[in-house]
Amino acid sequence: MLKSTEQLTHQAPSIEAAFQQQKQRALKLRTSTYEERLSRLKKLKQAVLDNQEDMCKAAWADFRKTPAEVEFAEIFAVLSQVNHAISHLRKWMKSKRVAAPRSLIGTSSYVHYEPKGTTLIISPWNYPFTLSFGPLVSALAAGNTAIIKPSEMTPNMSSVIRRMLESTFDEQDVAVFEGGIETSTALLDLPFDHIFFTGSPMVGRVVMSAAAKNLTSVTLELGGKSPTVIDKTANIKKTARNLAWSKFLNNGQTCISPDHIYVHEDIIDEFCAAVEERVQHSYGKTIQDQSSSPDYCRIVNRKHFERLSGLIDDAVQGGAKVVFGGETGAEERFIAPTLLRNVSGDSAIMQQEIFGPIMPVFPYRDIDKVINEINARPKPLALYVFSGDKQFIQQVVNKTSAGGTCINTSVVHFLQENLPFGGVNESGIGKAHGVHGFKAFSNERAVIQDKFSMGHLMFPPYTPKVRKLIQAAMRYLT
Ligand code: NAD
Repeated sequence: MLKSTEQLTHQAPSIEAAFQQQKQRALKLRTSTYEERLSRLKKLKQAVLDNQEDMCKAAWADFRKTPAEVEFAEIFAVLSQVNHAISHLRKWMKSKRVAAPRSLIGTSSYVHYEPKGTTLIISPWNYPFTLSFGPLVSALAAGNTAIIKPSEMTPNMSSVIRRMLESTFDEQDVAVFEGGIETSTALLDLPFDHIFFTGSPMVGRVVMSAAAKNLTSVTLELGGKSPTVIDKTANIKKTARNLAWSKFLNNGQTCISPDHIYVHEDIIDEFCAAVEERVQHSYGKTIQDQSSSPDYCRIVNRKHFERLSGLIDDAVQGGAKVVFGGETGAEERFIAPTLLRNVSGDSAIMQQEIFGPIMPVFPYRDIDKVINEINARPKPLALYVFSGDKQFIQQVVNKTSAGGTCINTSVVHFLQENLPFGGVNESGIGKAHGVHGFKAFSNERAVIQDKFSMGHLMFPPYTPKVRKLIQAAMRYLT
């Protein structure tokens, strides 16, 4: 359960103690072997395998997150990250030789991946297991200690995370502190070697300015309004099936959820009808069916429920038409899957990340106008394109900027371990997953060793003979 402010204040000394312990431990971990790191990864994997039932129960208790979605979007997502790290760890850890330039003939150089040291992972509530354990996989693979601060908004899941990690790792390797802003603030005061934060751009700014005080490096995995563009050559049924899934997954509370949709005006009616059909197929035809569907989860808390209900009301007052959905139930924090048309660009729903089960759909004729509109907003975490036309796809991809892009699908780039995952500027700084996550938690240390270089022939005193040699060397090298 949520801790009181008094309890949080009492946590402060133990945060400091855990940090100091980890600082000592981090020095030892600098020389950790492949086998030692592998064993920590395997322990984490086993903890996930052993606690699947508790994870599903906690997710249901927090916001009726359906077990199937915990299984594939949390348990599977973490297992695939940990398996990928286990199979590539040896290669990642190996120093990488680099060639010597002509000016440094007689030397050899390599990049050594040293652990950054003490790391802090602050995670959000929407996919608490994936977004706590995923970065932890990278931190452990790279040989770091870690303190994890899960979200206070999903107390049952946070408590399972703490119990799982406390029973798996020694506190000097991995520690967990539950709590809200006070706990985060106490942690952010400490001079960690790296902070990996996942959450909103607003709190991202708080984290980055706290990190600046200690010049701590950061990875910021943030959010924003991820647009989707659907061309008239797209396969409408397949597109609708995909977006009805990715938009209403986790009740729209997904960082890479397709936020708002631009559809070519020739196919917009057919597209909206196809989305409605898919929603009814997935969650039921009537509101009663949908609200009792075990596959449709809830808004995380009252504040977000009110924010989202307010967004629908505001859009409707501004002239938007509810194509389907729009019903809400405050007691259960239920918002029906909703599709809106004729939404004004000035309405509140277009001024913030929606992060809920509302899909505003906009018709377009001229793709350049859509591209200009996308470019007028902060760079998104994801941008999706649905089209059968290669040139159209290239045009949208090349003329816009986004953290990641899926073509004729959405959100699955999160599961592609070989791709970097992250945002750009407002949607994030730095990349996660696979080798990119390993590098985020490593210092790429430059090492050069002299073997038989001749540089000393050009050391002072700069006699005419030495000057001539320098000039000859410059002619040869440039
Ligand atoms: P949030 O930013 O409110 O909270 C994230 C974490 O920061 C929580 O642990 C919270 O306790 C802590 N926190 C909150 N306020 C703080 C403050 N003032 N100082 C220090 N710490 C503070 O985000 P959220 O509501 O938990 O999650 C939703 C947001 O996260 C959305 O914007 C979503 O797009 C984004 N997100 C991004 C990714 C990604 O991978 N890029 C993944 C999931 C969610």
